[in-house]
Amino acid sequence: MEKELRAKPLVKAIYEELKDNISKAEEEIRISVIILGEDPAAEFYLNNIEKNCSKTGIGIVIKRLSTETTQDVLLHLIRELNEDPHTHAVMVQKPLPAHINDNAIAAAIKPEKDIDGFNPVNLGKLMIEAESLLPSTPAAVIEMLRFYNIELKGKHTVLCGRSHIVGKPLLNLLINKQEPGNATVTVCHSRTADLAKYTREADVLITALGQARFIKGDMIKEGVIILDVGTNEVVEGDKRYYVGDVDYEECFDKSAAITPVPGGIGSVTTALLLRNVWYAYKQQQK
Ligand code: NDP
Repeated sequence: MEKELRAKPLVKAIYEELKDNISKAEEEIRISVIILGEDPAAEFYLNNIEKNCSKTGIGIVIKRLSTETTQDVLLHLIRELNEDPHTHAVMVQKPLPAHINDNAIAAAIKPEKDIDGFNPVNLGKLMIEAESLLPSTPAAVIEMLRFYNIELKGKHTVLCGRSHIVGKPLLNLLINKQEPGNATVTVCHSRTADLAKYTREADVLITALGQARFIKGDMIKEGVIILDVGTNEVVEGDKRYYVGDVDYEECFDKSAAITPVPGGIGSVTTALLLRNVWYAYKQQQK
């Protein structure tokens, strides 16, 4: 196993397969993305999606709405896209303004077009290990483990973070009965007393905290495998850059393997989101 678990070779393989699949489809496979306002991080993410859609041959339509858009108007647009036979995937870009209920939006997207995998039907299927569109960040962690042949069976996995979009779905994937799964998991969050006590016991440490360089060298044990989901912006004067939840410099030597940030889980996420567009299309063909 490599020490640095880089996304690049995995991402390359995903896009090659996807491009090949898309080229064989008899119609344009299309994603519609709805975005409210102009949040810089959301624009950056969307730009990346657009670039990779064009590389893989996926059609993309972006619906730009103002942050004042009401929930009813947004729901109406989602229903239109749900019924449009030329739209195979629907996504609403986060963050959403405070007056919009995230759960209502996730539930409104037709499960077969829900490439974010947040519709309760898809989340429920994930829990019962039925085939579904998986949320791409938790799926990215699983794909990294699979790509680098990391077995979880018999190891103690410590998962830091319990959000609806990362921690909770990931917990379910980790304890699935198929490989890579079969993990024994401890979940930590902001109400965990003495988090370091748990992180020090981890054979595999997965962090989705949203706290820049939070995990220090003295919080891990020798030989741990680290998967860092965190993507945290650091601003230093004019400089802006991203770091993980793990202090990479402090933890690198002690770990057996570690994902970098950037160039780790985040890069796999977009590739899997676009692979979901293909899966969504296939489901609709059935
Ligand atoms: P949330 O803020 O929704 O959740 C963070 C979780 O970490 C919560 O469960 C919270 O606990 C816990 N937490 C926060 N601070 C602490 C602390 N000091 N001690 C212990 N637990 C703590 O974040 P997300 O899940 O949305 O994202 C997590 C990270 O992953 C972020 O850096 C984000 O940018 C990144 N991310 C990366 C993606 C990718 O594509 N690679 C996609 C999505 C997110 P509690 O529940 O008690 O509040």
